[in-house]
Amino acid sequence: LHDRDGKIWMDGALVDWRDATVHVLTHTLHYGCGAFEGVRAYKTDQGTAIFRLQEHTQRLFNSAKILRMTIPYTVEEVNEAQRMVVRANGLQSCYIRPLIWLGSEKLGVSPKGNRVHLMVAAWAWGAYLGEEGLKRGIRVKTSSYTRHHVNITMTQAKTVSNYTNSILANMEATDDGYDEALLLDPSGFVSEGAGENLFIVKDGVVYTPDLSAGALNGITRNTVLHIARDLGLEVVQKRITRDEVYIADEAFFTGTAAEVTPIRELDRVQIGAGARGPITEKIQSAFFDIVNGRNPKYAHWLTLV
Ligand code: PMP
Repeated sequence: LHDRDGKIWMDGALVDWRDATVHVLTHTLHYGCGAFEGVRAYKTDQGTAIFRLQEHTQRLFNSAKILRMTIPYTVEEVNEAQRMVVRANGLQSCYIRPLIWLGSEKLGVSPKGNRVHLMVAAWAWGAYLGEEGLKRGIRVKTSSYTRHHVNITMTQAKTVSNYTNSILANMEATDDGYDEALLLDPSGFVSEGAGENLFIVKDGVVYTPDLSAGALNGITRNTVLHIARDLGLEVVQKRITRDEVYIADEAFFTGTAAEVTPIRELDRVQIGAGARGPITEKIQSAFFDIVNGRNPKYAHWLTLV
């Protein structure tokens, strides 16, 4: 990914892709205190548009606040940096990755004295869990790794270090032949996927774990809550157990990268008919209409680059 032409926004200016580097004594590289965002831009009839840019940038600032890091730019500047990167790389639809990290002025656990850096990169990235997965559903395994307790590294921040937990869970699941991991919270209730929020459908009602289970407050999760209500579906946020997922009629993951991906199996137990369910399909199709600019009600969620 590093050896290509293009531009990356780094500390206030666009630099050549290959020159966007950091020193090996970078504090975040050693101790993991940093935060990032995952954002997508889609091709619409009006042009390329970033989906829910404002909410993603706001979550980045919230992550920084939780980590006691001060981003040396305004929200508007960070929004503009993302639009600039998409334009500069001539991308029509893409994934956008803003990241904040601590510099290499000094090491030691205390980050004090280190500069806060920000970069934004963007590149074309197709379906995270595969085109097949979007249509047919994926196979998921309950992880042997527990999701973070809410009082460890903070679950409402999209922190760099939280992803060691996601990496372990994802590697275990994929080594065992599954597509993705589902993590339980320290009490054993369903939390989220390694990089996705979970939804289930039972008797026409849509359920998702409430945020006390340590899941990230996903922006796609929030989008799906709007869509479900628009479709006249009852939506309930509550504690969910793994066996409730086994006996659900439908299940799906949501995320900026994963979009709306049906789940057809958990721990080798078939969910519903073992295919993308009818309500999942409706939600998925409404989601793609919104992100591709085909639903005027949500035009305010799209920022043209
Ligand atoms: N949970 C985790 C752990 C994630 O990494 C992501 C992806 N950012 C999500 C949930 C979904 O969040 P969003 O819909 O905002 O991308």
